[in-house]
Amino acid sequence: MNNKLYGKLIFELSHAGRRAYSLSENRFGAYDVNTIPEHLRRQEPAALPECDEMTVVRHYTNHSGNNFGVNNGFYPLGSCTMKYNPIINEEIAAMKDFANLHPLQPAETCQGALEVYYCLQQQLAELTGLSEFTLNPCAGAHGELTGLMVIKAYHEQRGDNKRVKVLIPDSAHGTNPASAAVCGMEVVEVKSTADGLVDLDHLRSLVAELGPEIAAMMMTNPNTLGLFEKDIPEIAQLIHEAGGLLYYDGANLNPMLGVCRPGDMGFDVMHINLHKTFSTPHGGGGPGSGPVGVRKGLEHLLPSPRVVFHDDDGALTVDTSGDDSLGSIGAFFGNFAVVLRAYAYLLTLGAENVKMVGPLATLNANYVKERLKDLYLLPIDKVCKHEFVFDGLKDKSTGVTTMDVAKRLLDYGYHAPTIYFPLLFHESLMIEPTENESKQTIDDFIGVMRTIAVEALENPEVVKSAPHNTPIGRADDVLAARHPVVTWRQIIAEES
Ligand SMILES: *Cc1c(COP(=O)(O)O)cnc(C)c1O
Repeated sequence: MNNKLYGKLIFELSHAGRRAYSLSENRFGAYDVNTIPEHLRRQEPAALPECDEMTVVRHYTNHSGNNFGVNNGFYPLGSCTMKYNPIINEEIAAMKDFANLHPLQPAETCQGALEVYYCLQQQLAELTGLSEFTLNPCAGAHGELTGLMVIKAYHEQRGDNKRVKVLIPDSAHGTNPASAAVCGMEVVEVKSTADGLVDLDHLRSLVAELGPEIAAMMMTNPNTLGLFEKDIPEIAQLIHEAGGLLYYDGANLNPMLGVCRPGDMGFDVMHINLHKTFSTPHGGGGPGSGPVGVRKGLEHLLPSPRVVFHDDDGALTVDTSGDDSLGSIGAFFGNFAVVLRAYAYLLTLGAENVKMVGPLATLNANYVKERLKDLYLLPIDKVCKHEFVFDGLKDKSTGVTTMDVAKRLLDYGYHAPTIYFPLLFHESLMIEPTENESKQTIDDFIGVMRTIAVEALENPEVVKSAPHNTPIGRADDVLAARHPVVTWRQIIAEES
């Protein structure tokens, strides 16, 4: 790390007149600047940083070294985890034959891309036991909204206009209630029992009270505590008898792969996060893809455009009609490069290996849980699926919090698990090792977690004041969220 350059903004490294490139004067010669109206033209040169080539290269190279990702180290983040991201998928997604496609080019000139799209739709339907999928939504939350719009349209088309309530367990991911609200529905919270599952008695009383107003219930299974909701058949029956539909949040589908299918459990509508379960590195808001699947009888409501296969000549066409369709929910077909990676992922693993994903994700999580539960508090001591939640350290007398443990992990070169979510416990520490880590990697992580627990007892200060080895210590999260400083002028102004 070059300390002189570290921590500086590229603007602070700027010297008037320095250049890292040379372009011929007439590069834009054919362009007559006078065709731009006077009032739209810049009066002064843009305040861009002026640096020599090596300064620019070192600045960005050093910054890239400060990033932590799955290619640097173990990343046991629960819930929104990136699972397995084969590097070959990146090469496939970058192939110019795919990358240079234009969404408006005639279908007969991009049959290969349409085939990828069509085949992935079919494979997702097979994996989930649902009838048909759209790959158009661009994120999990976008999928939730699309799925809820399907549900709303289903009720409205039957003339059943009173159904505005969506039941959502208190353990749900925050996007669930947010999507329901954006869709114009009212959220009703369903309580969890002490062992972390949907409280059936509470659900029964809600159904009895709200019956004809229930549009849907949204479920995550395994739920965000990593626990399998064993009462799904009964929950499905309750909701269906009340006239509602059952929605499945399949953002993290890895524990289910090869083991069971939402469609077989009575779910009517679901979404999948391709960018979590089926590769595609993501973070900071994208890129993503949240395909939505529906059971038989709801297919006509899915958004357009749709890729249609013609049996007679084997051609694929793009259909933008569909009388009952929701219509367009975004630009064209969503994030095609994410779709491509998911398709490559499934082809690479093949049907046999896809069946190993769920069992391995489950084995790894339970192994970590069992090896750490003597030192970390496990509020719900049951077999988990792909992830589990500790409620901080077991010995509370040291005052060492989940935040401290997370920060101390950074010193040892590990990304922190998900912390303070789900909201069911005060000191939530949610761990997902994922299915694709070696036993050595997982054992090393367990070793570090145990070391930190011992440090907390013997030398709590070292944990409480962590991190010690990172470029900066503890950032003020609240300040950063409430008053983000996003321009360099503002930083300079605030410092002077
Ligand atoms: C990540 C996640 C979502 C939301 O997905 P985005 O792509 O981030 O919008 C929804 N539900 C669960 C359970 C998730 O883990």
